[in-house]
Amino acid sequence: MNTHIPYARQSITDDDINEVVAALRSKNLTQGPKIEEFEQAIATFVGAKYAVATSSATAALHIACRAADLQKGDYHWTSPNSFVASANCGLYCGSMADFVDVDVSTGNMSVAAFEQKLAQAKKSGKIPKVVIPVAFGGQSSQMDRLYPAAKEYGITVIEDASHGIGGCYKGRPLGSGQFADMTVFSFHPVKILTTGEGGLIVTNDQKLYDRLVLFRSHGITRNPELLQGQPDGPWYYEQIELGFNYRLTDIQAALGISQMRRLKLFTDRRQHLVDRYQKELQGLPITLPAQAADQKPAWHLFWIKLNLNEIQKTKNEIYSQLLARGIQTNVHYIPIHTQPYYKKLGFKHGDFLGAEEHYARSLSIPLYYELSDVEQDRVIASIRGCLG
Ligand SMILES: *Cc1c(COP(=O)(O)O)cnc(C)c1O
Repeated sequence: MNTHIPYARQSITDDDINEVVAALRSKNLTQGPKIEEFEQAIATFVGAKYAVATSSATAALHIACRAADLQKGDYHWTSPNSFVASANCGLYCGSMADFVDVDVSTGNMSVAAFEQKLAQAKKSGKIPKVVIPVAFGGQSSQMDRLYPAAKEYGITVIEDASHGIGGCYKGRPLGSGQFADMTVFSFHPVKILTTGEGGLIVTNDQKLYDRLVLFRSHGITRNPELLQGQPDGPWYYEQIELGFNYRLTDIQAALGISQMRRLKLFTDRRQHLVDRYQKELQGLPITLPAQAADQKPAWHLFWIKLNLNEIQKTKNEIYSQLLARGIQTNVHYIPIHTQPYYKKLGFKHGDFLGAEEHYARSLSIPLYYELSDVEQDRVIASIRGCLG
């Protein structure tokens, strides 16, 4: 009997469960020691000074924008080939979103398009305050060029590496801070590692770190350096900004700590599966993702791009035929600027053709740690059967 193969799935072991149970039996369900332990584990792993765990990557992106002082009258730019959260985070701050089209070989923000758009923005006086490149599927954009181009204009760079924890770019882990002011990770169950819901920001900048901590928890502080008045007792605290409750719990952090111990296993397995896809899907009317020599991605996603003019089927038919064989595929992403909400803001189909082409042709195929070679062979055979 053929079981259903999803496009993504978490991996939970008895060790994970035992860590969560221990957290439940401990004194602190939230605001306890597990949060810092989790933050420290990730900061150490990526080689960043500071880490701030949050209730989701969406929350992390929001407070990263607030830490960068993004506000009404400002602009923030991101990739149209992303989840809506990459653009919504700036709208929450009252800023106006705009997009930089993608390089069709990687699905990542194109450096050429970015430089061109910056030159235009300079003329019209609409230089963005924040730019949010997305590490699509786990591969960084060409951050070695994007970052200096942004810094020339004083733009804060927030890398949305929701797909990227455990990956390397130019020999250093995503989140090291080499080419970004802040880097955001997601721990939603479909991503590389999970805390149920959860996110995290890493940075090397103490000022940004202090602001992130402030915005994560109501804008409230006890930090003597930030207090504006005199404490009238040991209970004293001040609210100095309008913050949120975006905290991760100790229960979730315990799961994250346990999952971090297997991060290398997760990414090694994904690379193995990707290598097999790259080899076994040759010779079909599809285009496979490019992997540049300076990238060692975590591979959250693996996608095939259908050469639709060589195939006598629509993408919808291929999706349905694979599903009928028990293979769940997915599509990443519906271009953000074509969402009804963004159309109301003035965007339209045709604005970012690279992202639209990616959407029209691509299918994300199953890729997760527990996908066995035998199951992957079934995926490969089904795709070959459907397209061959
Ligand atoms: C998943 C994802 C997010 C949002 O992450 P949550 O943890 O679910 O809030 C943001 N950006 C990208 C690119 C994502 O894939």
